[in-house]
Amino acid sequence: ALVLGIETSCDETGIGIVRGTELLANVIASSMDEHARYGGVVPEIAARAHLEALTPTIEEALRVAGVRLADLDAVAVTSGPGLAGALMVGVGAAKALAVATGKPFYAVNHLVGHVGADLLNHEPLVGEGELELPTIALLVSGGHTSLLLVRDLVSDVELLGETIDDAAGEAFDKVARLLGLPYPGGPEIDRAAAAGDPTAIRFPRGLTAPKDLERHRYDFSFSGLKTAVARHVEAAVAAGEPVPVADVAASFREAVVDVLLTKALAACRDLGVPRLLLGGGVVANRRLREAAVERCADAGVALRIPPLSLCTDNGAMIASLAAQLIAAGHPPSSLGVGADSTLPVTEIQA
Ligand code: ATP
Ligand code: MG
Ligand code: FE
Repeated sequence: ALVLGIETSCDETGIGIVRGTELLANVIASSMDEHARYGGVVPEIAARAHLEALTPTIEEALRVAGVRLADLDAVAVTSGPGLAGALMVGVGAAKALAVATGKPFYAVNHLVGHVGADLLNHEPLVGEGELELPTIALLVSGGHTSLLLVRDLVSDVELLGETIDDAAGEAFDKVARLLGLPYPGGPEIDRAAAAGDPTAIRFPRGLTAPKDLERHRYDFSFSGLKTAVARHVEAAVAAGEPVPVADVAASFREAVVDVLLTKALAACRDLGVPRLLLGGGVVANRRLREAAVERCADAGVALRIPPLSLCTDNGAMIASLAAQLIAAGHPPSSLGVGADSTLPVTEIQA
């Protein structure tokens, strides 16, 4: 099916057009620069930016794909999880487009969309061939840190664990701020860490103590790590010493990467699923990718990483998931469906 997908759950206005698993267009407008001076995504600014970017981004995607609205078989949109106001803009636009063109409307889950991205025809950044299921999926971004068991993309996705406080990308952004580095913090920490020693400071690995593992085996926590970095910076300042930015950045990054991979690989081992898929904007982290390659090889786990353009938020992944739903015979969503900022991952289609 020829599907146009709309993604507005955070700060990217993403419009994708796919035909089944064929990627025809993936156009993204981001309001990231507008959030920079606040050190994080400001929901009202994001929602307004989506409103402004939607029409030109849809037009651009249609132009790139070389299709007309009348050619579409369906209009798909992220209905959750994400920022409520931002989601509402996309959902409203998708409904309007579906009604105006008389096309079926599919409201889908953002997190499952991240997995759907990997079905599109592309050379994966890491891995080869087609996505095999079941797989463990680790989704790491500014808003999410979720570990999923995906048995079937359109009917069977289970949430194994998630962050109980900050998301991994959010931790990068907050720690960058503590170190006086600009937003978004991920790339800045990566850069600063290159000159640092990852073993210089032993920062805490959240929820990995035996008593935590009982209740939170696959959950994540990064707020304690952030506090530990803050204490370290304060101690240096109080002692009148320069803050060892490179060492802090490298040691912090190592702690995040270590916990992410330890938990993801524990899931692979416990559940007997020797496949791991990574997604989300934090996959841009070089150390995460490098450590994932090493540790998956050691554990006998097949690692897949889609190209970065499909890892960060985009509309193509939403169109791809909807195309799979259509191929499996799922009926359209009701036009009564609204944005749901906490849509659970088990609700693949709203
Ligand atoms: P959502 O959570 O809804 O997917 P988002 O906009 O927060 O939305 P992305 O755009 O996928 O997520 O990712 C942005 C996050 O990724 C930011 O927190 C940013 O700091 C982080 N990030 C980007 N590059 C890197 C990097 N090299 N290392 C670590 N984190 C990074
Ligand atoms: Mg983003
Ligand atoms: Fe996302």
